[in-house]
Amino acid sequence: MIVKRLQAGVYAANCYIIHTEDGHGVVVDPAGDVDDIMEYIEENELEVAAIVLTHGHGDHIGGVMELRKKLNVPVMVHSYDEDMVGDSSLNLSTAMPMGDVNFNPDRLLEDGDLIEIGSKELKVLHTPGHTKGGICLLLDGILITGDTLFQGSIGRTDLYGGDFDTLMNSIMEKLMVLSDETVVYPGHGGQSTIGAEKRNNPFIGRWRG
Ligand SMILES: [Zn+2]
Ligand SMILES: [Zn+2]
Repeated sequence: MIVKRLQAGVYAANCYIIHTEDGHGVVVDPAGDVDDIMEYIEENELEVAAIVLTHGHGDHIGGVMELRKKLNVPVMVHSYDEDMVGDSSLNLSTAMPMGDVNFNPDRLLEDGDLIEIGSKELKVLHTPGHTKGGICLLLDGILITGDTLFQGSIGRTDLYGGDFDTLMNSIMEKLMVLSDETVVYPGHGGQSTIGAEKRNNPFIGRWRG
């Protein structure tokens, strides 16, 4: 699998395009800069199966409406964040430079769901705590963590749907059980591994939940 990172907007949210060598892919969190996303898709002649959202926050969904129009593929979000993507106050985009973002998703995801990418399958891990419907995506040792887990940190829990204990339980029970070599691609900042986060992430070291 190939993981391409594109950073978007003033919040520097990471958009990832995950694709097979033979050109099947998905776009995760098209935060904005749709032209850059389209350029990569066209250059690599990708057949995009879906737009998948790690959660419903405005800094990760700014490009969804425009990109869906261009690609004509389903937008997928966990069922618990459906209310957020449909409401620009809840997803905070009203207060962001890109302005109001709200749309209806095409498929609501649940824990354990599989999203087809050519002959591969991307697995949905429900990891609530940053938002109610936050998810991570796992495939072949690649883990997209959204705003659940960052290199050396975790997502904030003071916004709508956030809860610290819930987030820590998600991280410990769903992510820290993966192999140490699993590469972590977060929603902001650079990549890491599960092993490095076990050793170095102060939130994980301190948690005795
Ligand atoms: Zn967020
Ligand atoms: Zn974010």
